[in-house]
Amino acid sequence: MNKAEYGTVIAIQANYYQVRLEYFSNKLFLCTRRSRLKKIGQSVMVGDRVWVEDVDHLNQQGAISSVEPRKNELSRPPMANADQILLVFSLADPPLEEWQLSRFLVKAESADLELCLCLNKQDLVSEEEQKQWQERLIQWGYQPLLISVDKQQGIDPLRQQLNQKITLMAGPSGVGKSSLINILVPGVAQRVNQVSGKLHRGRHTTRHVELFELPTGGLLADTPGFNQPDLEIEAAQLIFHFPEARRLLETGICQFNDCSHREEPNCVVRGSWERYEHYLKFLEEAIQQAIAQQARGEEESSLKSMTKESGKQEYEPKLAKKKYRQTSRRIKHQQLHELYHEQSARSEDELQE
Ligand code: GDP
Ligand code: ZN
Repeated sequence: MNKAEYGTVIAIQANYYQVRLEYFSNKLFLCTRRSRLKKIGQSVMVGDRVWVEDVDHLNQQGAISSVEPRKNELSRPPMANADQILLVFSLADPPLEEWQLSRFLVKAESADLELCLCLNKQDLVSEEEQKQWQERLIQWGYQPLLISVDKQQGIDPLRQQLNQKITLMAGPSGVGKSSLINILVPGVAQRVNQVSGKLHRGRHTTRHVELFELPTGGLLADTPGFNQPDLEIEAAQLIFHFPEARRLLETGICQFNDCSHREEPNCVVRGSWERYEHYLKFLEEAIQQAIAQQARGEEESSLKSMTKESGKQEYEPKLAKKKYRQTSRRIKHQQLHELYHEQSARSEDELQE
C-alpha cells in the first residue's frame, strides 16, 4: 500500500502542482497528478485539499492521488474552496468612485461568498472625509476597513479578517493590492522566485494562479486588476445584491410578485436609498444583456427561460423574487469569474484540457 499524505494545492503551472504537505511541516512539494484522476475527469485546482502518494521527502516530490470534495469552485480564476472576497479600493489616488465601487460590490455579492471591503490610502484624505465614506458605506450595508499600507495603519484588523481563510482579492488597479500583499506575506518576492525557478516558467503565464500564504495560516489569491467588471447578473436577481434593498424586502412585500421595482404601484423597494439609481442603471444593463443574448440565440439566456416560463414572447425578463433562492450556488460561483480579467480568462479556457 502506498501511504498518502494530506495537503493543500498552492500553485499550478502546466501539469505541476505545488502542494503543502501537513505531515512534513507544511513543506512545499512539487507534484504530478495520477493519470487515473484525469481519466475520471477529476481536475485539480489551487485551494484543493488533496492526498499525495509516492512522497519523496528528499526531493520534495510526489503524485496527487485524490482530491477531497470541494466546498465551492470558481471558474475564473480557477480555484477551489474560497471563503471570502476581499475588495480593495483606495480613498484617493485613484479617487473612490461610487459607481465603480458599487459595480464591484454588486458583482462580488453575486458570488455568494463572504465579502470584506477595504479602503486603502487612508493617509491621503482628511479624517472628516474618511468618516463621510464610512457613514455612507454603512448606509449601503457595508462596514469598510480603512487602512493605509504605506503608514501600516489598520492592518491588524485586516489580518484577523484573513486569518485561516482562503481569500480572493479584487479591486481596480492602482489602489495598492500589490503593496498590500508585500506587507501581508513576508518574503513574497523569494516565494515567487522559488515557484518560477522550479517550474522554469514566469509568474505571469495565463494559467498561473497562486495562493499566497499568510503567516497566520490563511491563503490569499492575487488577481489581475481590472476597472469595470461585467455584471452578467440576471435582472430578477439583481435587487438581492444590494444589502440595503434586501433589508427593505425583509420588512415588506411589493404588490406585484414580479415587481421590477421601477414604476409599479406599491413597491417597497423603490425610493429613498442612495444606490437606488445604481440599481436602475444596472437593471437596464442586465435587460440589455439578456436581449442581446437572446438575439444571439444562446441556449442558456436568462431571457429565454423567462419567456418559456411565462409562455409568451416578452423582451423584458420577468422578475420573480422566488428565483433568488432557486439560483444554484454553482451558478453564482460561476458568476464570479467576471471579477477577473476577461482576456486572460479566455486564454485560460483555451489552455484548459
Ligand atoms: P495595485 O495596482 O492595486 O497592485 O496597486 P500598487 O500596490 O501597485 O500601488 C499603487 C500605488 O499606490 C503605488 O505607488 C503605491 O506605493 C501606492 N500606495 C499603496 N498603498 C498606499 C497607501 O496606503 N498610501 C499611499 N499614499 N500610497 C499607497
Ligand atoms: Zn418592488
